[in-house]
Amino acid sequence: PQNINVCTAAACVSLQSESVKEAIEEEVKKQGREKTCRVSGTGCLGPCATGPLISINDGEALYAGVSVGDAPEIVKNIDKKPVSRLVVSPDSPFFTHQERVALEHCGNIDPESLNDYLALEGYEALYEVLTTMTPVEVIEVIVQSGLRGRGGGGYPTGLKWSTVEKAVGEKKFVICNADEGDPGAFMDRSMLESDPHSIVEGMAIAGYAVGASKGYVYIRGEYPLAIKRLRNAIKQAEKRDLLGKNICGTPFSFDIELRLGAGAFVCGEETALIASIEGRRGAPRSRPPYPAEYGLWGHPTLINNVETFANVSPIIRRGADFYAAIGAGKSKGTKVFALAGSIRNTGLIEVPMGISLREIVYEIGSGIVDDRKFKAVQTGGPSGGCIPEEYLDMPVDYESLAEAGSIMGSGGMIVMDETSCMVDVARYFMDFCRTESCGKCVPCRVGTAQMYNMLTNISTGKGTMHDLQLLEELCDVLKHTSLCGLGQTSANPVLSTIRFFRDEYTAHIRDKK
Ligand code: SF4
Repeated sequence: PQNINVCTAAACVSLQSESVKEAIEEEVKKQGREKTCRVSGTGCLGPCATGPLISINDGEALYAGVSVGDAPEIVKNIDKKPVSRLVVSPDSPFFTHQERVALEHCGNIDPESLNDYLALEGYEALYEVLTTMTPVEVIEVIVQSGLRGRGGGGYPTGLKWSTVEKAVGEKKFVICNADEGDPGAFMDRSMLESDPHSIVEGMAIAGYAVGASKGYVYIRGEYPLAIKRLRNAIKQAEKRDLLGKNICGTPFSFDIELRLGAGAFVCGEETALIASIEGRRGAPRSRPPYPAEYGLWGHPTLINNVETFANVSPIIRRGADFYAAIGAGKSKGTKVFALAGSIRNTGLIEVPMGISLREIVYEIGSGIVDDRKFKAVQTGGPSGGCIPEEYLDMPVDYESLAEAGSIMGSGGMIVMDETSCMVDVARYFMDFCRTESCGKCVPCRVGTAQMYNMLTNISTGKGTMHDLQLLEELCDVLKHTSLCGLGQTSANPVLSTIRFFRDEYTAHIRDKK
């Protein structure tokens, strides 16, 4: 049959893609094509801002900006030439510069259909590890692949798995951190809405590797569609003995529960996340001990984020060498980014590590809106920094981003043009941090509020050069004395904007505006 896949991830749903899908289904009936056309909802197809998006025959043609009124023409032309006025060329740099591993199924399957996932080798990696590999062998594959934690820190995943495997404990746990909270980030949400079984499978493989039989997904309560699809995936997997007791007829058992976050950004920090799952207030504690040895209810616990788990089954199926061959230096594989801001093509992208920022902004992103001048890219959210034009040819990898005063982060990438005021950008992120500070330690609780006040003064023309000096001193205090990552990195947007755009700070101070 001919496949008509209508994107039903949140961005397209917000542009009425469900009505478009219904109109196409009705039209298929009207034109008597029920036997030859299959209409499905699918996950994120990539260029989110141009939705609703439709993929014909798994990418043969991609339609953008589809409306209910286009349904008759789309169905009529299904086995003829594509409807040219709606077509987005698959040869455009938006697609050709990407490499999909974690997003391999996104847009190709119905996220609510287990059969669709199984048809594309779904759960074969889990079956393979359970029937042919020891836990240590599984960990070795992950080590060899070079995969690093995609939540932001970039800690080697295989090493983390190995630490939990070796930790002594009666019980062990696996946690998927889906508490995506960076402003502008929507990678985790899109992956969970588009391919929830890949996360379930990745978690089960991790459970087998580290010796855990229970997993939790800590997910933002503000993601209702992702929650619904994940719950559906877990139920489907349980029914087919892919989760639960004696998976695939082996002695291994694993089940997964969801825990919904209530919107506190700090609960993305692993010790706060653990406290929240335990039913306590989500506040960080000092480390060590690390969760790998003393985690959920005191048991060894593996915590990885959504994208890290999404990479696991492709690595097992396609081999560590396949993954390690992508990327550059110590940053192997691919990275998913949520491309947003002042850029023509916003959306969800996956690129090989080592790609340049210029390629992302000018090829995949097709440049700045209204032909304005590029000013900076913000990566890493409130913990990251703003990278200026002179770094556009820098490769996107963990080390290069750190050298440029930013971080990889979980994948939020906000492009800014000449009209953005960098003092205001720093002030925005500081406002975010002071609001989200849990208040447990003084440097962060008081420091972020004071820094916000100073930035407000500077931004409104009331600041002095002394404020700027104090601001830099406070950055240093927060970095070295805050208890958790939120406070320790909250100064990064300020430091990077002072480093690269100091003249904007001094202009506000001197011109008093
Ligand atoms: Fe709480 Fe901030 Fe201290 Fe972290 S650094 S524990 S968020 S007050």
